[in-house]
Amino acid sequence: MCGIVGYVGHRNSADVLVNALTRLEYRGYDSAGIAVFENDKISVAKSKGKLKDLVDKMDREGKPQGISGIGHTRWATHGEPSDINSHPHSGAKVTLVHNGIIENYKELKEFLEKQGRSFLSDTDTEVVAQLLDYYYSHIKEPVKAIIETTQELKGSFALGIVFEDFPNKVFAVRRESPLIIGIGKDENFIASDVPAIIQYTKDYYLLEHDEIAVLEQKRVRIFDIHYQPVKKELKTADWDVDAVGKGGYPHYMIKEINEQPTAIKNTVLPRIKDGVPCLDECNINPEVLKNIKNIYIVACGSAMHSGMVGKYVIEEIARTAVTVDIASEFRYRNPIVGKGDLIIIVSQSGETADSLAAMRLAKQKGAKTLAIVNAMGSTIAREADMLIYTHAGPEISVASTKAYMVQLSVMYLFAFELAFAKGQIDEEKYRYLTSKLLETPEMVEKVIEHTTEISQKISTKLLTADSLLYIGRGLDYALSMEGSLKLKEISYIHSESYAAGELKHGTISLITKGMPVIAVATQSSIYEKTVSNIKEVKARGAKVIMICREGNDVPKDIADYVLKIPNFEEILLPMLVCVPLQLIAYYTAVQRGNDVDQPRNLAKSVTVE
Ligand code: GLU
Repeated sequence: MCGIVGYVGHRNSADVLVNALTRLEYRGYDSAGIAVFENDKISVAKSKGKLKDLVDKMDREGKPQGISGIGHTRWATHGEPSDINSHPHSGAKVTLVHNGIIENYKELKEFLEKQGRSFLSDTDTEVVAQLLDYYYSHIKEPVKAIIETTQELKGSFALGIVFEDFPNKVFAVRRESPLIIGIGKDENFIASDVPAIIQYTKDYYLLEHDEIAVLEQKRVRIFDIHYQPVKKELKTADWDVDAVGKGGYPHYMIKEINEQPTAIKNTVLPRIKDGVPCLDECNINPEVLKNIKNIYIVACGSAMHSGMVGKYVIEEIARTAVTVDIASEFRYRNPIVGKGDLIIIVSQSGETADSLAAMRLAKQKGAKTLAIVNAMGSTIAREADMLIYTHAGPEISVASTKAYMVQLSVMYLFAFELAFAKGQIDEEKYRYLTSKLLETPEMVEKVIEHTTEISQKISTKLLTADSLLYIGRGLDYALSMEGSLKLKEISYIHSESYAAGELKHGTISLITKGMPVIAVATQSSIYEKTVSNIKEVKARGAKVIMICREGNDVPKDIADYVLKIPNFEEILLPMLVCVPLQLIAYYTAVQRGNDVDQPRNLAKSVTVE
């Protein structure tokens, strides 16, 4: 959700903290703050709004000077976004930043109030600061006080902490919320995610649940909950600072749309052996696949939509029943899953709170779990029985494009292998489908090139719409869901996706003169059926934007705009058609003057339920 950073080194820490937080802006936030050791005293600057507001405030009121500190961008969960509620929060000797939610903060607050402590903010975080300060005032030893405190906390947290008595040391601890420790030369860092520190170092440790890190300029120590030292494996990020810059594009989103061909290559190629998918490395082997009874794909947002495409593909070629479930529904529904079932969890960040909880529940019930995750070493990746990493690289724009695309590519890899393992396709078909999947990067590149202009043109027709519909059948419907979400997320125009055949059972009453309808009709077996539905909306005055294939016979006067996709293997078309849907959303948002990469109210990695 929000971002946490920390620094101990030789540079001006306020600058490092703000730079690092800038790299985490994509996660979404509503306020920002830092705490810096200045002449051995902790100096705090914080402000509601964007990082720019914090920087302006520091320009006006003075920037704390020092070589160590902690920083935070907040996505409010307890208490409105305001200067007072912004982090850092402090007790007498302790100042900290927090990402996550403390579920038992009320009880803890009552206890602390009885001890005579008072609170300035409405946040759950201030309770942690006061509780830690309370333990520290008794124990006088920071790590032990942190251990005592975390044992009292229920919920999720990543904490960056400084103690006034320990200048130029930064402490950190986490449970559920992500946190990494960056290791530089004569400087060390904490951060919610690697992009924050990549301009300073590529080397980092992953902090496990309840581990405590103590950072100094020249050393980092990590302890477990029993205060025993822990030896960590040093990881190295395999992308560089360019991967987290805009690379000449006006927005991350359009950069990431253009990175899709490479992302598919990086994801698919390493999983192909002798011309067919090989997922052995992911702990998936044909014997395991053969015995799967039912599949559940459980996820949130765009990841869930990739699962909708996955459902159609897996059912079509592997003839195995797939249920797609929204993670926040699945986890509270006492779902009927167990031995013999496979639960596929899809998450870009690998930290999505609802998806993680759904996965744990499925495991508890005896099902096997497969994670499709982009962020290396994330919690979902670590806890799943089987794991397929998507190699999209860092996705900075809040609205997912390339991560969704590679989730699709993994759905195909998996579906093909499953279909072959279950004897539903022969070897010839298996090889043929794989070879087609290998052609998709080139095809996606072509589609980006050929549909950019027309998507831009179409978007100018949507700018003033109050509401629009996306319709399609089968795979086209699954894809429409993502098209509609993309538009909603960044253009703030209301839209719905609807199964085209279902329209006349109610929703068609919404069609009024000039209402835009984006109709996707790429599947030949149901093409005529969708065309009939398009006629129905056209007859009621809709402005129809039709997406179909080159060579399709489009009846006269049914569409105001026709956007044609090159002919390609039908089952793989969602990977091509999602491109103009992304572009239409992007250009609409740009022309409406919206903050494309950080749309209002949204956060990138949803680590709260
Ligand atoms: N729950 C805390 C708050 O509302 C932290 C939220 C966050 O993760 O930014 O301040």
